[in-house]
Amino acid sequence: MSVEQTIERVKRMVDESSKIAILLGVGTFIESGGENIWSSRECYRLEEKYNKTPDEMISVEFYSARRDKFFEFYKNEILLDDLEPCSLYYDIKKLQDTGKVRTVITQNTDGLHNKAGIRDVIELHGNINNNWCPRCHRNYEAQYLKNAKAVPLCEDCNTSIRPGVRLFGENIANNLMTQAVNACEGADLILALGTNMYDNMVKFCTGTYTGDRLVLITKEEHYTDKFADIVIHDKVCNVLPKIFPTL
Ligand SMILES: [Zn+2]
Repeated sequence: MSVEQTIERVKRMVDESSKIAILLGVGTFIESGGENIWSSRECYRLEEKYNKTPDEMISVEFYSARRDKFFEFYKNEILLDDLEPCSLYYDIKKLQDTGKVRTVITQNTDGLHNKAGIRDVIELHGNINNNWCPRCHRNYEAQYLKNAKAVPLCEDCNTSIRPGVRLFGENIANNLMTQAVNACEGADLILALGTNMYDNMVKFCTGTYTGDRLVLITKEEHYTDKFADIVIHDKVCNVLPKIFPTL
């Protein structure tokens, strides 16, 4: 089947569906200009700079033991304030407005989906704008943390603010996992965007999906691509306008 025919087929599937589950992987963040800190090049750069790997730094242990260093890394490498969502996010928002989307699930913590106005997103790894004070529970946006000189402290009670992203060593909340699995299980079409079938989120969320409409759209080829029902290798930004109804 040619690429054009595959795209036609997926377009028909979108037309026919009313309970679409959309999974957003790191590729959608990269298409918006983000750097993947898990790529080998970035891991190497960060290890050179901080003498630790990113997963060591974004961990419960490091957060507890070296909070100043944790926030140095977190502010410089995770809180990127100039990032804007690329067109794929706005295409998803428009599709969501038609009522066809049952759920959007992401492991990205960048908040780009919020900026584009996508609603009710299941954020498996949290959100950089969802920071809170563990003592008085006041919430803080990313910019507040970014502006803090060292460890960001709560304005009300001077307690150090807990970042809104999941740290290594912490579990994903059970209720979020259940919601994500249920949404995919009952979906009439799954669009996995900017990810691959080896990814934990994709494996986990689609594990109980028994349909034959799991469509993977991603720029990067991967040896597990064969586990998707349909694969389109291209940037997500390029593909969505071709498969979504003209809105
Ligand atoms: Zn407080």
